[in-house]
Amino acid sequence: MTSKSQKLPSSHNEFRSDTFTVPTDSMKQAIFQATDGDDVYGEDKDTNDLQDKVAKLAGKEAGLFCVSGTLSNQIAIRTLLTQPPYSVLGDYRSHVFTCESAGLAILSQALITPVYPKNGKYITLEDIIPKVIPDDIHYAPTKVVSLENTIHGIVMPLDEIKRISEWCRTKGIKVHLDGARLFNASVATGTPLADYCQYFDSISLCLSKSLGAPIGSVLVGDSDFITKANHFRKQNGGGIRQAGFLTRMASIAIDENLPRLAEADAYAKDFAKFCVDHGMELDEPADTNFVFIDGNKTFIDPELLKLSTKKYNVKAGGYRFAFHFQNSPEAIENLKKALLEAFEASKKIKHDSNGTYSKYA
Ligand SMILES: *Cc1c(COP(=O)(O)O)cnc(C)c1O
Repeated sequence: MTSKSQKLPSSHNEFRSDTFTVPTDSMKQAIFQATDGDDVYGEDKDTNDLQDKVAKLAGKEAGLFCVSGTLSNQIAIRTLLTQPPYSVLGDYRSHVFTCESAGLAILSQALITPVYPKNGKYITLEDIIPKVIPDDIHYAPTKVVSLENTIHGIVMPLDEIKRISEWCRTKGIKVHLDGARLFNASVATGTPLADYCQYFDSISLCLSKSLGAPIGSVLVGDSDFITKANHFRKQNGGGIRQAGFLTRMASIAIDENLPRLAEADAYAKDFAKFCVDHGMELDEPADTNFVFIDGNKTFIDPELLKLSTKKYNVKAGGYRFAFHFQNSPEAIENLKKALLEAFEASKKIKHDSNGTYSKYA
């Protein structure tokens, strides 16, 4: 909890995304102690320590610090693939398909196979099997299955991951995890990170989302995989020289902020209950730090929300609300007032509830 004498972080009233979490004072102070080796030469101690720390948490041999989750996902899949033609299969909402600027088409020359979850939440082995493309000269065979956890704020259950992974391994299909928010899944379920990671050949873990690092993701996998991924990282302009001040901040973010992720889940659950109690319908229950209002059933006029969020000094828009440990209880109360006011006022105007809003911003 923030005491009255402490200054609130600038992100305290930010509900658009958990990317808005900011470095804490202890992270900023730590820059002065950071090492200054050249990481392209593999000589920066803070960077090597962070990579080892995250690899150890994930139960993998090696890690690679990347400037973004996009770089980390893209080079991971590129490394797992060898010679086109081939396909990458995943949930139709996957960030690697929808939000990485066509990276798979451009950087890996891969066809994608988007799969729809029958249960409306996450894809299962039964969704995947009929969509897997066989090794036939007519086709682009499936060589990688890419999962995401959490996806749309939903935790993919460990049992389902195990089933998918074991099946893929019998077929020679590699399995990648976009674990941008795997720390959130791990905290929400009490499942150690390594228990999830054992089922994947590569995992990308974001440090700049809920944890508050200024930039960065760590890609983990076995040593040969990481050596090759480092080749692609360099090729994509992602080699960083004196990376120590970034990686030292990220390391502190793991030590100090990881235990606080649960606070965000509690905020989201409380906010979800508030929405339901006031007659708003949700896409699904809040598993982790997101609340999604179902825009097809509950209309909130974007202009009215813009006005009410301004009035109550909170930053939010659309139908997705993201929570993080830097939110203040006061800002959350203000968000509730702003949303309710916009919702009530929206009932009075005509609208076309075709759900044309972005879930991915
Ligand atoms: C944010 C995010 C990424 C990576 O995003 P960057 O902005 O490139 O760091 C990857 N996958 C998911 C699911 C994300 O939310």
